[in-house]
Amino acid sequence: MEKSMNCLLRATNLTKRFSTQDPPVVDRVSFTVQHEEIFAILGPSGCGKTTTLRMIAGFERTDEGSIQLNGKTLECPYTHISPERRGVGFVFQDYALFPHLTVLENVKFGLTGISKSEREYRAQEILELIGMKAYHNRKPHELSGGQQQRVALARALAPKPSMILMDEPFSNLDAVLRQSTRNEVRRILKEAKMSAILVTHDQEEALSVADRIGVMDQGRLVQIGTPEEVYYRPKTKFVAQFLGRTNLFSAQATGLEAHSNIGSIMLDKPARGDVMISIRPEHLTLEQATPANCSGTCGVIQNREFKGHDITYLIKLDRGDCIVHTDNRMPFGVGDNVIVRPLEPAVVLDNDSTRYTPDQSIFTSSDTGKSSA
Ligand code: ATP
Repeated sequence: MEKSMNCLLRATNLTKRFSTQDPPVVDRVSFTVQHEEIFAILGPSGCGKTTTLRMIAGFERTDEGSIQLNGKTLECPYTHISPERRGVGFVFQDYALFPHLTVLENVKFGLTGISKSEREYRAQEILELIGMKAYHNRKPHELSGGQQQRVALARALAPKPSMILMDEPFSNLDAVLRQSTRNEVRRILKEAKMSAILVTHDQEEALSVADRIGVMDQGRLVQIGTPEEVYYRPKTKFVAQFLGRTNLFSAQATGLEAHSNIGSIMLDKPARGDVMISIRPEHLTLEQATPANCSGTCGVIQNREFKGHDITYLIKLDRGDCIVHTDNRMPFGVGDNVIVRPLEPAVVLDNDSTRYTPDQSIFTSSDTGKSSA
């Protein structure tokens, strides 16, 4: 059970339909966000992430379900608090800065109901926090994309909202700037002790910025957990594949062990009979195959991708292929006969026919929330 004491936002069974003929685009979505936690909603295009965020922001009504912030109901079938009265800040993909205003004026814009001197003080304080004090007189077009994004974050933080909602905030930045800006945004949110929901389709972004991730597929949250949990212990084939490269094997389980096309493999939990297992390429290693150690489960290296600090091998097995990700000291080349050895237990996946239904737990053990810096 989640610690309600630490719970800031609670979304329960959020459901949204845009048409009565079609299935809901958001389907009984439930999650919580803890104080000072960054929670990412991660999923492919069209899965319902933005609609979920828009319901939390108040831009979209829910058909069913409720949203509570700090114990106060913002949304339920009988209540709708307007966006400006919800006490949340927004950061959009396109920054939405006013082009004719300076950085300082942009940040001051959202500060209402306080004296002129307080406004000035608060805006300067927040510019200090985001490391943009020296740029206070510049107009948005005189800033890089990453700097503009930080100003947008500053403007959202300035009125001290209860939480920040961010919709694909880094997608307009090039790859290098995206990485540095997301590190910086995480630092700023943590320093400001701010909770946030980040909507993204980029798994690396969610893994590196968020404390917990809710993985969404076709309107449903299919797994919630820390980055490590959703990456290393995916519940379903969809989560395993969406979070990065993985090997999916059919296997015959006999308790904590199974027989697969790479031979015997340990499992993360007991299972019996035919199962689908997932093992990440970095959890496998290679050994040279010899007549003595190869008992029908060896493979042949089909491709070797040297990337400096590591190597990715594609191995052709008797049944299917397998990817192995090793450090750069592995001496094998294309055509070598090898044995694939697991370094970690494989993860037993839920059968796809038993995809998440509201009665099943989608929460992994960390669901009391993690708000580490
Ligand atoms: P993306 O990453 O591409 O932004 P998303 O996961 O955020 O996708 P949503 O924008 O929430 O997805 O859209 C979910 C589904 O709802 C899509 O099929 C979309 O076409 C549909 N949809 C969204 N807004 C509306 C609307 N106002 N009217 C009708 N359909 C809509």
